[in-house]
Amino acid sequence: MMFLVLLAALIPQQVLIATSRGQASIPVTNEAGTAAVAAVLLAQPLGLTVSLDGSAARVTLGTRVFDFDVGAPFFRCDSAAFPLVGAPYIARDTLFLPLHWLTDYVPRLARRYRWDPVLARLDERPALAPTTAAPTANPITGLRLAHTIVVDPGHGGIDPGNPGLTLPRGITEKDITLGIGKLLSAELVRRGLNVVLTRATDTLIDLASRPLFCRADCDLFVSIHVNSMPAGRRQTQVNGVETYFVSDAKTEDQKRVAQMENDALRFETSSTGTGGPLGFILNDLQLNEYLRESARLAELVQGKVAAIHPGEDRGVQQGPFLVLAAARRPSILVETGFATNRGSYNAMWNAEQHARDARRLEQLGQTAEARAQWAQAAAKARAGRTAKALVLQAEGLAYSGSCQDAATPLARAQGSLTEVALRERMDLADAVCALAAGDLARADAALAMPLASRNAERRSRAEFVAGQAALVRWDYDAAIVHFNRSRVPGAAGRALVGQQRALITRAAQLADLKPIAAELSRLRSGASGTEDASHLVDLLTQVLAVAETPGARFRVAELARDSLQAPALAGRLFLETATGDTASLFAPKALIAALSVLPDRRDSIVALLDARYAASPYTRAFHGDPSVAYVAAEDSLAREMGMHVARGAAVPAGARLQVLPREPPPPTPGRRGPPVDRP
Ligand SMILES: [Zn+2]
Repeated sequence: MMFLVLLAALIPQQVLIATSRGQASIPVTNEAGTAAVAAVLLAQPLGLTVSLDGSAARVTLGTRVFDFDVGAPFFRCDSAAFPLVGAPYIARDTLFLPLHWLTDYVPRLARRYRWDPVLARLDERPALAPTTAAPTANPITGLRLAHTIVVDPGHGGIDPGNPGLTLPRGITEKDITLGIGKLLSAELVRRGLNVVLTRATDTLIDLASRPLFCRADCDLFVSIHVNSMPAGRRQTQVNGVETYFVSDAKTEDQKRVAQMENDALRFETSSTGTGGPLGFILNDLQLNEYLRESARLAELVQGKVAAIHPGEDRGVQQGPFLVLAAARRPSILVETGFATNRGSYNAMWNAEQHARDARRLEQLGQTAEARAQWAQAAAKARAGRTAKALVLQAEGLAYSGSCQDAATPLARAQGSLTEVALRERMDLADAVCALAAGDLARADAALAMPLASRNAERRSRAEFVAGQAALVRWDYDAAIVHFNRSRVPGAAGRALVGQQRALITRAAQLADLKPIAAELSRLRSGASGTEDASHLVDLLTQVLAVAETPGARFRVAELARDSLQAPALAGRLFLETATGDTASLFAPKALIAALSVLPDRRDSIVALLDARYAASPYTRAFHGDPSVAYVAAEDSLAREMGMHVARGAAVPAGARLQVLPREPPPPTPGRRGPPVDRP
């Protein structure tokens, strides 16, 4: 609503035209939905003439000629096409032209005028002294300064093009080619190129006439089409983009596509009259002086389009296309996709969109949201049958935490990928799953290629995973090195959190954690790594809280061991639990727990255990003699721990038991703390 109000305020109710011929106030009408002015009212002040021939309207202003098509939001001037806001229309026997043309293009193309948007006033500048003509070519390269591209939307009018199989009702190839042609034209104009559209409306132009749009002042000819597969087993499965230049067809597929596109000939009333289409083509194949440039253009366009196309890269192709044969400039025909493809087109498009969102969220440190997007990407990619789809599915599953499900696509992709980028992406997903399964050797092997990748984003992701693997090994020095190398925008925060996490593993006493907690609190208020930092701050707060009972102290020691992965600190806390209240049931349990994190003090701890607690069910179980008393003791401690858990230190939902890299000796005492969240 606000937008409409603003828009209404911006459109003047009338415009003032001031020229050497006098002044005139011209009313602006909005009756057709966009602002327009009656051409007849412009005739006097601008000295403009209008001629109408059917739907074609020609407006002459000084030396400039503007060609309009009634109902089409484009006009031509000097063989270039320009897009318009709104289309010319005829009402009450009067031609109305879009206000956009008057205020934007007239000052640009007929340079004598200047538009003042505040005063809604078009002024004629004083006549300039004649100057030398503007240069038409770059004096160094000899190339013309303004480049013109002819964009040819295939088919049109009575020729619907290929009807497709999976297009929406009422839509055929001719509608899609026109839509793409207009978008392409608008984008090229935006980038400062001149564009000529062979058709801007639903009309048929002869195949042989289309290249005639590209002559003296034209640089490239680009014909746009939509492919289709003949009925058969793979009809609905094939999808992708391919770019043709004109030459003999070398494969059956190339012959089929050329025949399909040349078939437009049967809708034409006039004949080419040069000995039939075949002779026509053969003549021109020999004459085509731009064969090499056309092949190069096809290569460049195919590369760019395939990079963003959700389907396969079907490569550069060649075929005897009538529409390209007569072009006197480098010319290509792009088959932009398949109208017979079922499902996977949209699904893959969606899958890639979800993956892009996931990466963006990861960079913002929003790991939970990113996982949800990865799960969506995996679900959508399932429909695809390409190697790209397989890798995307594996990535989606691996990065959303479903490594068990990722095993199948990973195994299928293994050994079948030839493209380096896909191979590296698959290795990264494999490394993340290997790490989640605690298989550090497999993670290392999978990281080898991504760590040496030429792609900065994948290399950075690999460094991050390598940093996490180093943390699992408690190799904090290596972890810091890896995290420092993983500095894509947004990952820096996670790397900094990772550094603090590495410092935590090195902590020997509770006092060591205080500066770390302060630093993490600071990082938590930053833009990235927020979730990880918050999680760690919560854990540190629990560990740093004063523990009143032996059970609470034992619990804190477990958090230090399992969640913070700080073995030295955990060992110290277990020993303090044992010595703080020697009569507690927790004392022998804590001594046994200390063994797992202080292996080099094993002898002295076992000696203490045997000397003080020889009769304890824990000591007996430790020596391989589990008893009913042991189970009873565990139950009683679990009750105390359970009460403690219910009172304060909450175990996050979904916390799972964690397998430590160094197995503690049996029996495994008590419950474990929540694992530190890992992507
Ligand atoms: Zn076509």
